[in-house]
Amino acid sequence: MKSLQTDLLAQARDVLQHIWGYDDFRSQQADIVTRVAGGEDALVLMPTGGGKSLCYQVPALMRPGTAIVISPLISLMQDQVATLLQLGVRAAYLSSSLDAYEARAIESQLLDGSLDLLYMAPERLVTARTLDILQRTPIALFAIDEAHCVSQWGHDFRADYLGLSVLAEQFPQVPRLALTATADLRTRADIKRLLRLEHAEVYLSSFDRPNIFYRILPRLNALEQLTDFIRREHPNDAGIVYCLSRAKTEKVAEALQARGFPAVVYHAGLSAQEREANQTKFLREEGVIVVATIAFGMGIDKPNVRFVAHLDLPKSLEAYYQETGRAGRDGLASTVCLFYGLQDVIKHQQMLAQSEGSEEHKRHERRRIDAMLQLCETTDCRRQLLLRYFDEHMPKPCGYCDICAEPVATWDATEPARMALSAVYRTGQRYGVEYVVEVLVGKRSDRVLANQHEQLSVFGQGQALSLKSWRSLFRQLLAKGLLLVDADGFGTLRLAPECRPLLKGEVSLALRQDKDTLTAQRRTSTASRASQTLDAADQPLWLGLRALRRELALAQGVPPYVIFHDSTLMAMVEHMPLSLQEMRLIGGIGDSKLSRYGEDFLAVIRQHVDALA
Ligand code: ADP
Ligand code: ZN
Repeated sequence: MKSLQTDLLAQARDVLQHIWGYDDFRSQQADIVTRVAGGEDALVLMPTGGGKSLCYQVPALMRPGTAIVISPLISLMQDQVATLLQLGVRAAYLSSSLDAYEARAIESQLLDGSLDLLYMAPERLVTARTLDILQRTPIALFAIDEAHCVSQWGHDFRADYLGLSVLAEQFPQVPRLALTATADLRTRADIKRLLRLEHAEVYLSSFDRPNIFYRILPRLNALEQLTDFIRREHPNDAGIVYCLSRAKTEKVAEALQARGFPAVVYHAGLSAQEREANQTKFLREEGVIVVATIAFGMGIDKPNVRFVAHLDLPKSLEAYYQETGRAGRDGLASTVCLFYGLQDVIKHQQMLAQSEGSEEHKRHERRRIDAMLQLCETTDCRRQLLLRYFDEHMPKPCGYCDICAEPVATWDATEPARMALSAVYRTGQRYGVEYVVEVLVGKRSDRVLANQHEQLSVFGQGQALSLKSWRSLFRQLLAKGLLLVDADGFGTLRLAPECRPLLKGEVSLALRQDKDTLTAQRRTSTASRASQTLDAADQPLWLGLRALRRELALAQGVPPYVIFHDSTLMAMVEHMPLSLQEMRLIGGIGDSKLSRYGEDFLAVIRQHVDALA
């Protein structure tokens, strides 16, 4: 048994090195691959960008027969197949985008045994026709990608995934491999039950994304802050900007365009053609920014998204993690930046107050929002908090988030907080933040005078703090649940029972001192972290390699990253290989790509080296 495993591992490495040109497997990949290659089932829980695809693609090439990959989205299938074809792997997909004639051609390839991998959507698989064909074909394995789709708890439950229990019934001897980036226990249990994977080995990877730098800033002027962020940290990079409403995506995209950024919009209100065109531009061209609602992202496999910005607060940490996870799939340094403000907190509190679900549902919603707010307002390492939420313990601060890079100061806000709470109370718990702040700073506005609130003892007591500081303070009181917002839709504030100890002077309150500009200098704490910085002297070579890649991609109608990843081009710049043998040592260059593109890229490198001499 032992030697069989060792043999399988050696064989798997050989496939990895020759076909993909990678040195070795990452973390659990080796175990998973040998297990599945040996004919057993597995359930793989790995974060986005963790390297799930190789877990079934490598065994697919090691086992006799065709591997059937079940995937929910056409765009994902197309991308994967384009990538595999570049590697010289015989892959195809069956989808509703093909006409009957094309589909027949692929079916006969399958029956001929001339396919290594065949991708299809679940609804296609469960048809009598497909099942019948599969019964007549040797099958290497079934890989069920995005397996959380079987779960009602998943974010994108798909009824057609339920039909996949047919695999265990009709093909009991074929190994099944389920893969997902959603790791919570309920989803996991659903996957096991519905796909009959009770006895499968479960592989749970760390959900940390070490190449992502987390940054959260209070929002002042979102557009200015966003452009400042992109200019300073990611000029010329591809990125995603998320907004809550369609109207806002349009406005932000226009503003970015006016400032010279190549920005496109994406939301469910666009026609199918517009969506398609904008998505294609984002995938095929370099450095495009897509401004989108959360309708965008599922099925986007672009590896070199260098930043994800949120201009509104996501509704939960799950959503935040999934959306930010679209940055840096290729493992190179990437930044995510969330801008949030008082209005977000009020809006969320209001939605909670208006929610008509059961008490239990409300409690559940409150917990989710509280966790999101806690991440925003924390004065400790963001990554530690995020991972803790996903039940993962990180013993030390990460060194790679805004707070680790530049610790946040706190101030003793006990007195001003009491003053704020008392102003809410004295004005009758009938007003929103703006009004209460007017009273605190002693503004004789018409409405204050009309209410005779200039006669209150709190009137003008808070002149020592700026308007900005008061807003920050109210935001934090709301985020901490010391103040509540009514369901009336006017942002009316009310004291929460939790504020009593503070009012009575039994506890003190430390709040964060907001930093709203990008003063924090990013630093990389571990050597393993990809560094994107190129010497100025290397810039022309980098641009030359990218131009060649773009030309090759255009000629074949595929996205540039299907030819080579940024990390592979970066390694070419670093090592400047001058022969095919040297070129072969670069990560991401296997046999097929070496023979297809090696000489072309060598020519660009040689030219650059000659110019230097
Ligand atoms: P996931 O499906 O988990 O989001 P992918 O399978 O797309 O992740 O892999 C993410 C990236 O990491 C891909 O570009 C892939 O080529 C790369 N990758 C995966 N495994 C390895 C490895 N062992 N060595 C080098 N790169 C790898
Ligand atoms: Zn940190």
